[in-house]
Amino acid sequence: MRVLVTGGAGFIGSNLCRRLTAGDLAGIDEVVVLDDLSTGFVDNLDGVDVEIVEGSFLDPDALERAGRDVGAIVHLGARPSVPRSIADPVASHLANASGTVAVLELARQQDAHVIVASSSSVYGATETLPKTEDLPTRPMSPYAASKLATESYTNAYAHSYGMDTLAFRFFNVFGPYQAAGHAYAAVVPAFVDAALAGRPLTIHGDGTQSRDFTYVDTITEVIADAIARRVGSLDPVNLAFGSRTDLLGLIGELEGVLGHPVELEHEPSRVGDVPHSQADGTALRALFPDVQPVELTEGLTATVEWMRSTTASA
Ligand code: NAD
Repeated sequence: MRVLVTGGAGFIGSNLCRRLTAGDLAGIDEVVVLDDLSTGFVDNLDGVDVEIVEGSFLDPDALERAGRDVGAIVHLGARPSVPRSIADPVASHLANASGTVAVLELARQQDAHVIVASSSSVYGATETLPKTEDLPTRPMSPYAASKLATESYTNAYAHSYGMDTLAFRFFNVFGPYQAAGHAYAAVVPAFVDAALAGRPLTIHGDGTQSRDFTYVDTITEVIADAIARRVGSLDPVNLAFGSRTDLLGLIGELEGVLGHPVELEHEPSRVGDVPHSQADGTALRALFPDVQPVELTEGLTATVEWMRSTTASA
């Protein structure tokens, strides 16, 4: 089978392509990446046996070229980040909402299994923890609203056309190939980058905000299994395991991995950031009973090693 990974040159996408081309997955013959390189990098796919189509899924020609004869589509391509969406909400809407409809249309034509990336940010201002999928959604940013559109369209296509679809709500994913050195960097790469460079780690707010951190290999393992078994769900599924670590705890873990303390600086909280996030993993475990999440310390150790290796080779 030919598998299309949109956003395959990005952080999660490039890790997924590595996993899908590792050679041990029966039934996956070819992987094609469609990426406009807006936040991804071709270098992330160095040494990975994939076909790369450089272009946007908002461009019908590029989508048609990349989408020829695909049996499964993993739609990871998006304009990520809450602050980026607050700076330019229309761009987030086009990439994340309109872009998803374009990809779903392709999947409908090809009768392809389709897996899409939604986000824990859809829970937004809902305070209940842990987050079960049936909680009300209350987006606090254009990004969160656009991800709600991503999963809503996906489930609507499943209902309307009988398609096999699966919308995952990712929580805070981290690991190798996650970009650090830009204004919209996620917290783990931003912290590891600063710590390795000897700079203070910037905490927005008091550091008690908590997240359900998920190592990227856990994500790619679940997606690979979902493709292999053509797993579908008419409702979105959290892809995280119910761990909850606050930023001060994360820093403690990082200090343990590095073997030395780090310096901190505090800045005001950011608009649109949710205070706490923790998944209920019951639905995930029902669909993927064999999956074993990688522990935070193990994932952080691998992330630090990877970032050290990129700094050394720069
Ligand atoms: P990323 O920025 O590294 O990857 C996104 C990729 O999509 C990039 O390679 C980018 O160039 C590509 N892209 C953007 N617009 C495109 C377009 N119009 N056409 C083709 N390609 C396009 O981000 P990531 O962290 O790997 O995120 C992957 C997916 O997971 C996204 O949908 C994101 O919203 C979702 N997600 C990620 C997290 C996380 O913690 N990293 C959490 C929740 C949801």
